[in-house]
Amino acid sequence: MSEAKLEKVLYIDLTHKKFKVKKRPELFEKYLGGTGVATQLLFEECPKGIDPFSEENPIILAVGALTNLYPLASKTVAMFKSPHTGNLGESHVGGRSAIAIRSAGYGAIVITGKSDIPIYLSIHEDKIKFKSASTIWGLGNTHTIGRIIRENEPGAGVRSIMRIGIAGENLLTYASVTTETYRHFGRLGLGAVFGSKKLKAIVVSGRKTFEIENKKEYRETYDYLYKTAVNSSLMKKYHDLGTPANINALNKFGGFPTKNLQEITFEHASEISGESFAENYLGRRLACSHCPIGCVHIAALREPYDDEPYFYKTSMISYDYEPIYAVGSLLGGYSIPGMLKLMVEVEKYGLDIMSLGVVLAWATEALEKGLISEEETMGLNFQWNDYDTYQKAIKLICTEKNEFYRTLGRGVVAASEKFGGKDFALAFGKNEMPGYSTGPASHVGYFVGARHSHLDNGGYSLDQKKENVGIPPQKLAEKIVKEEEWRQVLSSLVLCFFARSLYTPEIISKALKVVGYDFSEDDLWKLGETIYKKKYEFKFREGFSLTDYSLPNRIYETPVPSNPIHKEYVEETISEVNKLIRE
Ligand code: SF4
Repeated sequence: MSEAKLEKVLYIDLTHKKFKVKKRPELFEKYLGGTGVATQLLFEECPKGIDPFSEENPIILAVGALTNLYPLASKTVAMFKSPHTGNLGESHVGGRSAIAIRSAGYGAIVITGKSDIPIYLSIHEDKIKFKSASTIWGLGNTHTIGRIIRENEPGAGVRSIMRIGIAGENLLTYASVTTETYRHFGRLGLGAVFGSKKLKAIVVSGRKTFEIENKKEYRETYDYLYKTAVNSSLMKKYHDLGTPANINALNKFGGFPTKNLQEITFEHASEISGESFAENYLGRRLACSHCPIGCVHIAALREPYDDEPYFYKTSMISYDYEPIYAVGSLLGGYSIPGMLKLMVEVEKYGLDIMSLGVVLAWATEALEKGLISEEETMGLNFQWNDYDTYQKAIKLICTEKNEFYRTLGRGVVAASEKFGGKDFALAFGKNEMPGYSTGPASHVGYFVGARHSHLDNGGYSLDQKKENVGIPPQKLAEKIVKEEEWRQVLSSLVLCFFARSLYTPEIISKALKVVGYDFSEDDLWKLGETIYKKKYEFKFREGFSLTDYSLPNRIYETPVPSNPIHKEYVEETISEVNKLIRE
């Protein structure tokens, strides 16, 4: 039994195969955990201007002050210098990762150095081992890697296994890290940083429990959160259809990027909607640990073997709104089996599916426009909805078969700089575009968001509220920044963002007090602002600019009927955000 408050940071040096544990209660008292603590540790550990693939680049994993104690505090934050954007790398994952790290006794894990041979880390509370991964390095499937590690490690049922595929080993800058088969540190290239350190996987487990002094108040607060999550309508949609519930709604609104954003509605949207997936392919739902909702939707794809009658292979594949956008509508794709098979390949190689979808969409249009030829594509004729060709391309990208595919593995900005087509290379701050083109706030939000994610500030959601259409740039900038500042608090507690309406400032302040942290609502808002500015300090330090930039022209060329996007308006809003950040 240990105290409910976080304090321990585990430092691991892969070069010398050493580790140490430091008590850093002041870190968690000040920043609560997650994003806040990880940002501070990034400043402590990451020297200015380093190559993201150098041994000095740290991988920081952090959980939050409410992890293991309240429902839906189920995520882990990873921070690193991103090889994809060259500045702040931040990615979140669910599964069992957070609970495993906390139950092992840690608030954060800092990994530096570079191993001389492929290894994986085995962390079971205070037993930390550096194990050879020579036999699994180069294995072509992240599922198989997970299975082999499961068979060789203790902690069944409470452990988390984070691992990379071939994409990470080959340093594709948008390589992901898979945990518990269906969850990912998807964005900004954490998988490549693992690969650069010859770190194939991390296994973490623990069974530590925590002593809460104020049991009665804790029970009451816990019950309120649990019952509200389960009984109210706040989270029902995430359980029922999951995030793909957005597809029909967004298509109706006219903000569903299609065929590399040449169109904003998709004539086949209903065929790939959440309803269609659920009716025809939903196999089961899963939940992250300490989550009573279970929004993770898993499709069952049944395929006959060619040579055996009545013999079928069934693949279980997780799906969400973003993958359906990225390798569905953005590729003009409406064959669910084709899409699912592509998702299997992405999973196998360990890639960020959003970046991959944008890269393939750019390649399809670039081939159509004659910027590239079948000489570059090695005979592949990319066409919308042609899943067989897209599947072949993934292998060529991940194994870097020629200069063209090697460049595609560095993202759409790299590809368009080399082959042309910058106007339709859908990236913001070098990170490929998420699945919303709902108006100016979505695109400003991607660009100014510290990790260039739709989840940074929810700009797409602001666009869909009538009262925000056409408001002065300064007002829109204030709304975007305010939302992003608040989300730093949620990310420091590493709460699931789907529970953001449940975890109000009032309930967070109360829940923290019960477990020993004294933060008023006002303190929380101030903390959010501090962390947001600190993240930007890192971005600016590493060369990111809010004044010298270019956005893809395509966003202005494809009008959103209900919310026009004008270049001057977008640029003025970005300029206002810049002022707010530098205040
Ligand atoms: S709602 Fe979904 S993503 Fe969020 S914690 Fe639960 S299962 Fe995980």
